[in-house]
Amino acid sequence: MTLPTAGFQTRLLHADHPDAQREPNYPLAPSMSLSTTFHVPHPDFKEEHEAYLNPPENSQDTKIHVYSRYTHDTMARTEQVLTSLLGANALTYSSGLNAIISVLNHYAPSVIAIRNGYQGTHASIELYTRGRDVRIIDLDDEYPKVETTPTTDGSGVKIGGLLVWLETPLNPTGEARDIAHYAKRAHEVGGYLGVDSTFAPPPLQDPFKQGADIVMHSATKYMGGHSDLLAGVVAVKDVKEFNRLWHDRTYLGTRPGGLELYLLLRSLRTLGIRVARQSENAEKLAKWLHSLTEEGEPSPETPQEITGGRVVRYVWHTTLQPRDGKNDPRGYCEGKDFDPSSQMTGGPPTFSFWLRSEAAARILGQKTTYFQAATSLGGVESLLEHRWASNRTENPHVCRISTGIEDFEDLRADLQQAFVNVASLS
Ligand SMILES: *Cc1c(COP(=O)(O)O)cnc(C)c1O
Repeated sequence: MTLPTAGFQTRLLHADHPDAQREPNYPLAPSMSLSTTFHVPHPDFKEEHEAYLNPPENSQDTKIHVYSRYTHDTMARTEQVLTSLLGANALTYSSGLNAIISVLNHYAPSVIAIRNGYQGTHASIELYTRGRDVRIIDLDDEYPKVETTPTTDGSGVKIGGLLVWLETPLNPTGEARDIAHYAKRAHEVGGYLGVDSTFAPPPLQDPFKQGADIVMHSATKYMGGHSDLLAGVVAVKDVKEFNRLWHDRTYLGTRPGGLELYLLLRSLRTLGIRVARQSENAEKLAKWLHSLTEEGEPSPETPQEITGGRVVRYVWHTTLQPRDGKNDPRGYCEGKDFDPSSQMTGGPPTFSFWLRSEAAARILGQKTTYFQAATSLGGVESLLEHRWASNRTENPHVCRISTGIEDFEDLRADLQQAFVNVASLS
């Protein structure tokens, strides 16, 4: 009897061993591949020997390994799960930024449309533009029609054109941007749309559904989920395009190490339940934080001194969109006329708020017990960061929260006592 197509959390557990019944000694828990090199099968074993001499185009199916920069077991299993998870051919990289640099090399754009977002992305773009003639334009500028050059590797990729790089939800605010809108605009002039979907891992968002050409994740964040590995992921629908990316990665040598892949695969098993819990906690926190602003209606038991915008001036989160930006202290907002629920289920577990007092924003993370004062996001433990400390272009009133999997009521109570503690700071 055949089973119906497996659901999301089931595939996270089983996508990497469809043929386990045929294999002796198949380890259920993945082992960690550390060997860089693999024994050549004796010519008497003709099939295996031939396979060794003619390594496959990509790492997706192979069981015959030659050298670990090309393929090895833990990477193959991790990428099988990611491919199933993202509904597109996935590759892993040694970091999120490495994944972004690979996308830049892949399309070799001469025009890049981007605005704000993760500061490291801009630094990576700066590296890419060195010695090249590349124009950086704003996401909402008019997109030029750029002449492109077809590649000769059979991938169908056209290089030298326009790449629109859309981070959504956006770091650090957690505001969503309209993927379909930017896909349409990019494609109208023959450009590509890349989406950094780190802030909305599966199952929250699938940018391919709204027309993205390539999707990237910093797997350091939700996919890794335990603040103990660096990795990046890139996915494309077309297998020829995947092969081009795989070739590039092989010769850049930018795959993650065996330990990181082992940890990543282990973490992916629980991605669905972690992210669902984090997203739910975050949505409740955003709602509670918003109730403390001038626009909000706090519950009667909330301490007076932290209500009515006295401590929290503004909260960003997709569940508070669309909004006109009138009360936004920056004077503008992202995704003004757009309902994020058209492309997301639930909101991002990471978002930001603006404190009335800059001194309070600086010290808040030291006044909490469960929220740890640290940068990064996506781990099981909650973090609270004075964002200016990591990004000096950020306004010093902004604090970013990465919501973990603790009990919501504990997180709310922790923030509440911290707000009371800093309420008198001006
Ligand atoms: C962290 C992050 C990156 C970079 O990922 P690394 O794994 O740190 O290299 C890129 N984009 C976003 C949105 C991120 O949060």
